[in-house]
Amino acid sequence: MEEPLGEINLAVQKATLQARGNSIKKRMKRDPARPSAKWVAPARVGREEGKALAVVLSTIGCAHARSDSGGCTMCSYLLDGVHEQPTAEQIVAQFQTALKEIETAAPPISIKIYTSGSFFDDEEIPPEARTQILRLISRDERIREVIIESRPEYVSESILSTLRAVLADRNIEIGMGLESADDTIRAVCINKAFNLNTFKEALRTAKKYNVGIRAYVLLKPPFLTERDALLDAISTIEEARKMGVTTISLNPVNVQKETLVEKLWIKGNYRPPWLWSVIEVLRRGTSTSDKWMKIVCDPVAGGKPRGAHNCGKCDSDIMEAIRRFSLKQDPTAIQNLSCDCINQWEHVLKHEDFSLVVHR
Ligand code: SF4
Ligand SMILES: [Zn+2]
Repeated sequence: MEEPLGEINLAVQKATLQARGNSIKKRMKRDPARPSAKWVAPARVGREEGKALAVVLSTIGCAHARSDSGGCTMCSYLLDGVHEQPTAEQIVAQFQTALKEIETAAPPISIKIYTSGSFFDDEEIPPEARTQILRLISRDERIREVIIESRPEYVSESILSTLRAVLADRNIEIGMGLESADDTIRAVCINKAFNLNTFKEALRTAKKYNVGIRAYVLLKPPFLTERDALLDAISTIEEARKMGVTTISLNPVNVQKETLVEKLWIKGNYRPPWLWSVIEVLRRGTSTSDKWMKIVCDPVAGGKPRGAHNCGKCDSDIMEAIRRFSLKQDPTAIQNLSCDCINQWEHVLKHEDFSLVVHR
């Protein structure tokens, strides 16, 4: 990265590491044979409505977050993990525990596998555990879709050929945190530690195996005004569509513990995005092109101070509209929403960069 951006990036890395402090050492003791979390929720499965089982496997966590580069500025997923890497058998047992949640569910079912890191990183998920988990999925005809998360540098031909061979003709997507299509924003505001070319390379490999890419787009990383964040998310969605991404998952920043974002938020230097910004990005994201691409959004802590929020009066209605939009892929679900606070949001968009005050 060119000077002085490289220096700024180093300063952000240092601040991210400092914000994390010794929180990893304080990670909870967990049963290594049980997942960190599992839940079932209504979901869009391809073009149908069905159920999604999400499972967060407990591992040592994201290599980027464990490294000296400190991880991403908004992410505390590492805290979901464990100190000592579970064995391959324990990881498979975690997945089997989660599968019990869908014993009686009707098809179509989607399975989302999260690890608070990368499912394709051998250090987190030993190859034998990965293959065993894929085999368990392949035996269940109700499972029509599999979504797996990984950083792009772990997406390889050998892993994807196994994935495709075992899961046969199921719809497969790899969730990757693109966050922003702008290399500078991704580096300086997010400290993501990969560039757009690495993402594109993973996308090309995935396409060879007819595997889709679910790109996570971050709305409002730190150091951007509300308006700049809004514009960046809109242009990132446009870029992603051009690249051939199959699904966009729009993720408004939520303030997670022991992160740089939390430190800024506590000092009054950061506000999570307005729900109006989320609505605007979804509206613009669906109207930019006639090339169909699924766009989903489920704001974590939506309507609360640590999540995307408006004035408090309209938040639950807006959250409901966002959920309906995501489930039905129906743009009319996010039309005709109103509240007096929309004026304040518009004021923020116009004036925040001049006033240099974060409007909380
Ligand atoms: S957002 Fe993803 S890549 Fe970044 S630290 Fe968290 S788990 Fe790692
Ligand atoms: Zn309102």
